[in-house]
Amino acid sequence: MDNWLLYVLIVGAIGIGWWMGRRERVKSSEVTGNNYYQGLNYLLNEEPDRAVATFIEDLEVNKDTLETHLALGSLLRRRGELEKAVIVHENILKHQHLDKDSILTVQLELAQDYLLAGLLDRAEDLLLQLCQETGHIRTESLKLMLEIYEREREWHRAAEIGELLAVGDDSEKYERFISHYYCEIAQELLKLKRNEEAGQAISDAIGHDAGNPRVSLVQGQLAVAEGRFNDAITCLMRIKDQDATYVPESLDLLVQAYQQSDKPVEGLKHYLTECLELTPSISIVLQLADIFRETQGDEAVAKFIANHLKHNPTIRGLTQLIDMHIDNAQGVSKQNLSILRSFAEALVADKPAYRCKSCGFDGKKMRWHCPSCKSWGTIAPIFGLEGE
Ligand SMILES: [Zn+2]
Repeated sequence: MDNWLLYVLIVGAIGIGWWMGRRERVKSSEVTGNNYYQGLNYLLNEEPDRAVATFIEDLEVNKDTLETHLALGSLLRRRGELEKAVIVHENILKHQHLDKDSILTVQLELAQDYLLAGLLDRAEDLLLQLCQETGHIRTESLKLMLEIYEREREWHRAAEIGELLAVGDDSEKYERFISHYYCEIAQELLKLKRNEEAGQAISDAIGHDAGNPRVSLVQGQLAVAEGRFNDAITCLMRIKDQDATYVPESLDLLVQAYQQSDKPVEGLKHYLTECLELTPSISIVLQLADIFRETQGDEAVAKFIANHLKHNPTIRGLTQLIDMHIDNAQGVSKQNLSILRSFAEALVADKPAYRCKSCGFDGKKMRWHCPSCKSWGTIAPIFGLEGE
């Protein structure tokens, strides 16, 4: 589709150039006409590189043709032909007679070319100037700056830009982003065992989005790292009310904190039962099953899992149930159960476990930042037969 559009655009643009050349009698029509046919020839011979070069040489940049130049630049960028997009946009900027608004628009396009091409320093230099402007140009420049600092993992700078964008209708969204930037900072500091500074970053994250379940998770990690297991439990249990779909992400840490705290396991059982009422997660069911196994035995556990599967069937739950029966089966029954287990495992082996609510991107591991739509906190576990 893009190929077809590119050809139409170039043929049309070269045609306009030829017609304007004739009308203005700037060049001899014979020469310009030759270029037009030459451009067509390149296209017919499938030489889009030379066709683009002919286009740039042949179609003068002025207020009548600016849109065509911009359309070609943007089309080339969408096709991933970034070097050519840069050439088209830099070519426009060589023409000094353009008005200020047009220059700013082209500069913004060029910054996007640089950004996608990974020329982050050049993009940043250009955007720092454009951020000084007002209105649409400023907002779009700030968004691109944010993308640069996210890519460079410059979280403090990203937070500064986020603050400038967190106004009006977008305020909630960018406050959530900033909260995640401080979570990133806190997790980096935790790895370096700089716990006190990590605690400060967590406070900053809470200040921007107190409802962010990731903040409670990181707060729990810090508390466990400092041996404050009861505090860790309190923080991690907040996730149920913040967004229960993220409870599975906190289970390993929560169980670890319980095992090392002086709290009775009844509290954990009660909490998980409440979570299960909010979100039918098989991870929570299996965690509860582990607790039940110690006090009520295998038969009661198998009944509990089977009962959950009746209402919320999942392959993972089925696998667990088969495991529980395999141990007590013998002969042909045992063999058949093993075959069934292999089938069940194969069904979910290549299936994604997480999906972005915003763009549909999916993958096998949990990420707080969507690599596709660049949104924060929109990827969550997939529920249903092949997931949670
Ligand atoms: Zn996404």
